[in-house]
Amino acid sequence: MEQVEVVIVGAGVIGLAIARHLACRGREVLILEAEGAIGQHVSSRNSGVIHAGIYYPRGSLQQRLCREGRDMLYDYCRTRHVDHARCGKLTVAPDAEAVAGLHELVRRGIANGVDDLHVISAAELREREPAVVGAGAMVSPSSGIVDAPGLMLSLLGEAEAEGAMLALNAPFRAARREGGRFLVEVGDEAGTRLACRWLVNAAALGAWDVARGINGLDASLIRPRHLAKGSYFSVPGRSPFKALIYPMPRVGSLGIHSVQDLGGGVRFGPDMEWVEEVDYSVDPAKAGLFADAIRAYWPDLPEGALQPDMAGIRPRIWGPGQEKREFEMQTPREHGINGLVQLFGFESPGLTACLAIAREVGAHLFEEEG
Ligand SMILES: Cc1cc2nc3c(=O)[nH]c(=O)nc-3n(C[C@H](O)[C@H](O)[C@H](O)COP(=O)(O)OP(=O)(O)OC[C@H]3O[C@@H](n4cnc5c(N)ncnc54)[C@H](O)[C@@H]3O)c2cc1C
Repeated sequence: MEQVEVVIVGAGVIGLAIARHLACRGREVLILEAEGAIGQHVSSRNSGVIHAGIYYPRGSLQQRLCREGRDMLYDYCRTRHVDHARCGKLTVAPDAEAVAGLHELVRRGIANGVDDLHVISAAELREREPAVVGAGAMVSPSSGIVDAPGLMLSLLGEAEAEGAMLALNAPFRAARREGGRFLVEVGDEAGTRLACRWLVNAAALGAWDVARGINGLDASLIRPRHLAKGSYFSVPGRSPFKALIYPMPRVGSLGIHSVQDLGGGVRFGPDMEWVEEVDYSVDPAKAGLFADAIRAYWPDLPEGALQPDMAGIRPRIWGPGQEKREFEMQTPREHGINGLVQLFGFESPGLTACLAIAREVGAHLFEEEG
């Protein structure tokens, strides 16, 4: 039977960041990926925004990992030549009443360690972004965008250069503990079985099935899975904006905002829809609702310009009507199984935070070694 030190389930941006982190520290790593290519799910179906870390609850894992991960990601992209831009973000207040809310957002951001936020007037907004209309805006200079597929290729390349292995079309099926290690069954054509000392469940939308396959795991720790779909529409041609343009945030959603792509184009999204199945189709009938939301800050959106673009699905551990919950990193402290770390509900800002998440997982995995 094949032996390896660490098995990571899932080759999205988080699994790949963990693989790179561990491989660069001399660990022998195998990544199991169910699909025939890396990053086919959440990591390539998102806004690609490097979040500054303004809104996540103070003291939460999301807030800390976003704040740390943002700086790590800018540094990583700069030194590895991964395409990115610190283009900044403007959160636009539609009227004078909402401007007071902008000052509250600045206070919240500063309390979360984002100390470069400030509010600009309607005139300053017009000067910066002539296409945008509003009574004022909050500027977040450290928000940006990243080429997520390019980032994943870079992480994989570094991990492989340090000896990590990637197995594609290799879905994790089951694992059980025996003699201080995991015996893992892979659902590939060869029916591979292997042994590892450490196991990381970074399967995102598939994390629940992976957890159910781990013998001895307390079933009460596998909370119900909720899926929150976000669709995007694009407009042809070049973006009329320099920065990312956001409406005022609502509970559980940052609203339909603009997303520059690094080639100079623009799309808008995501909306928020609870779904039962993973289905990435975009309903063209949503164009009207999108147009109304976008015209609140870009009144000149041309009639009929919105085209269905793509959709992504947030894996959530909280559902409709429930209180919002943050990232859940289950370590031996929670489940009592040495050598196992599981990630549930790693939605936004998982892309921004991937390098900090990797460092955190590494620290938990090897805690038992001191
Ligand atoms: C609409 C939307 C917008 C977002 N916007 C942003 C943003 O602007 N900024 C930001 O920071 N974050 C954003 N996020 C969050 C970010 O995209 C995610 O946190 C991140 O991509 C999650 O990465 P992952 O590696 O956990 O997931 P994934 O990329 O889904 O990787 C998991 C992998 O596991 C594999 N897998 C599943 N089951 C198995 C199995 N049994 N065996 C083997 N492999 C398996 C899957 O095929 C997949 O490749 C957004 C998310 C969504 C949905």
